[in-house]
Amino acid sequence: MCRTRTIGLFRQVAPNHFPGGFFSLGGSMKVAQEYDRICEVFGRFRTQRAEPKGELAHVNAFTLLVAVVLSAQATDVGVNRATRALFAEADTPERMLELGEARLADMIRTIGLYRRKAASVMALSRILRDHYGSAVPASRAALVSLPGVGRKTANVVLNMWFDQPTQAVDTHIFRVGNRTGIAPGKTVAQVERALEDKVPAAYQKHAHHWLILHGRYVCTARKPDCQNCIIADLCPSSTVHG
Ligand code: SF4
Repeated sequence: MCRTRTIGLFRQVAPNHFPGGFFSLGGSMKVAQEYDRICEVFGRFRTQRAEPKGELAHVNAFTLLVAVVLSAQATDVGVNRATRALFAEADTPERMLELGEARLADMIRTIGLYRRKAASVMALSRILRDHYGSAVPASRAALVSLPGVGRKTANVVLNMWFDQPTQAVDTHIFRVGNRTGIAPGKTVAQVERALEDKVPAAYQKHAHHWLILHGRYVCTARKPDCQNCIIADLCPSSTVHG
C-alpha cells in the first residue's frame, strides 16, 4: 500500500535540489528505505492476518476493561479461564458491585495479584456507575484516572473497543520493536513513541495486535523462530539471513 510512494518521490528529485547537498539526500534516502522496510513488514503481517484480534474474551466495553485490568502480569489464557464464569454473572458495573469484592476475588483467585485486582475492579465499577452512567469512557485521560488502569490498559481499550490507533506496548511489543528495529527504545514510552512515529498510518490501527501475535507465537523471548519468520529477510536480528 505505501511501499513505493516514498522511494518514487526521492527518485524524482536530483541531489542538487536539496539545500543540504548530497549528505542531506543520503540521510533522506535512508529514511525512505527504512519507511519502505517498515511498510513491507506490516504489509506481510496484513497478508498473514488481515483482521488481527486480541485474545482476551469479553462481551462489551466494560468486560474488556476488566479483562485487561486482570491481565497485568498474567496470560490471556489464564484470564479467559477465570472470566468465563465471572462475565456470565457480572457484565456491567452494577452487576459487578452486586457480586461483591469477596466473591469476585474468589472467582479470579487463579490470577496473580487477584486480591489487589479485585479491589481495583470494584473501585472502577463504582466510579463508572456513579460518574459515567456505567459506560466506559473513550478518553485516555478518563481511563487512566480509574483504579488499576494505566496507560497500557487504556491504550488496549481505546484500540480494541474504540478503534483508536493507539500503541499499547507490552513485553512482546517491546521485544519485537527492539529486535526488528521498527521501534527501538530503552523504555516502554520510547517504544510507544517510535511506533507512533514510524508505523505508517494505514497500519497504525492493527500494529498493536500484529506485533503482539508475532511476539507471542514466532519472535518469542527465549527462542525466536527465525526459520519460520515471515519478516526474517527484513530483520536485523534474524539468525537465518544476512
Ligand atoms: S527474524 Fe527472528 S528476531 Fe527477527 S522478528 Fe523474526 S523471529 Fe524475531
